[in-house]
Amino acid sequence: IYILGIESSCDDTAAAVLCNGKIKSNVVATQKIHEEYGGVVPELASRAHQQNIVPVIHQAIEKAGIKKEDLSAIAFTRGPGLMGSLLVGTSFAKSMAAALKIPLIEVNHMQAHILAHFIEEEDFEKPNFPFLGLTISGGHTQIVKVSDFFKMEVIGETLDDAVGEAYDKCGKMLNLPYPGGPLIDKYAKEGNPKAFPFPKPNVKNLDFSFSGLKTSMLYFLEREEKKNPDFIEENLKDICASFQYTVVKILMDKLKKAVKQTGVKEIAIGGGVSANSGIRTALIDAQERFGWKTYIPKFEYTTDNAAMIAIVGHYKYLNKEFSDASITAQARYSL
Ligand code: ATP
Ligand code: FE
Repeated sequence: IYILGIESSCDDTAAAVLCNGKIKSNVVATQKIHEEYGGVVPELASRAHQQNIVPVIHQAIEKAGIKKEDLSAIAFTRGPGLMGSLLVGTSFAKSMAAALKIPLIEVNHMQAHILAHFIEEEDFEKPNFPFLGLTISGGHTQIVKVSDFFKMEVIGETLDDAVGEAYDKCGKMLNLPYPGGPLIDKYAKEGNPKAFPFPKPNVKNLDFSFSGLKTSMLYFLEREEKKNPDFIEENLKDICASFQYTVVKILMDKLKKAVKQTGVKEIAIGGGVSANSGIRTALIDAQERFGWKTYIPKFEYTTDNAAMIAIVGHYKYLNKEFSDASITAQARYSL
């Protein structure tokens, strides 16, 4: 079974080919244009997708060493995401499936971030059902109870900002280029996590909140800069380490609560923030400390990619869950 996956929900144009769940090619064109604006500009993202989509798909098919006529089906991201961006991938997928007379398969991007763990990879174990998925990305922060491939329930999520968003906004306050997440992580590794204590939010159930942390950071920096205009420069590593320490604590505390509540001890993370060294270390430690089994995907399957779309397509293909040509993109699309 050859599945072509197409992803265009945000600012990455991506295409991948899987053969029976194994990677044949995985191509991503990241849009650099947004860096100068300090965040994704939807209008520019749609335009860049228009430019990138044909070459990216060509490359994915070529790298896979197949012809487009060998494809069994085309899977595409239907949502959630930016409407203008989604429309490019959706329209392209529909036309291509119609031209090749092969099935079209719609995919939920958030489901794909979780099911990325099922891409066939040597040295990577797949989680066993039921497991808890922690999806941490630029737009989402969710704990999902995954009972089966397509039986998922969100049991906790952020009430305001997503983790990645908090990282990027704090990055901006620290005068770091966009996206700030990876840079904060880099500096955090060299700083003292206990240098500056930040308050943890008091949120009920399994939900999260990150806007309070962002505001405390803002006030903290304003206060310190009044006393010392070079405060950020002089303390960057310690500030980053303290911020990261707080974020990891917030995430781990909720995971512990979720494990207690559900009795499920297998945890699989996904989304761009799962590249974070702090959360990775905490999850590896949790295996010994709490007896959890934790799964951390390969880096290229954490940020937006089309291989994760194709693997969902693969499982839907096995179930013969096909979409018809009247299907539309959905900016908001819950699990
Ligand atoms: P969504 O999947 O919710 O639509 P998205 O696709 O924009 O959101 P991803 O591409 O999955 O998000 O992740 C991007 C986010 O991950 C950015 O906010 C970025 O700062 C953050 N990020 C990437 N690497 C790291 C890291 N090492 N530490 C912290 N944050 C990181
Ligand atoms: Fe994503």
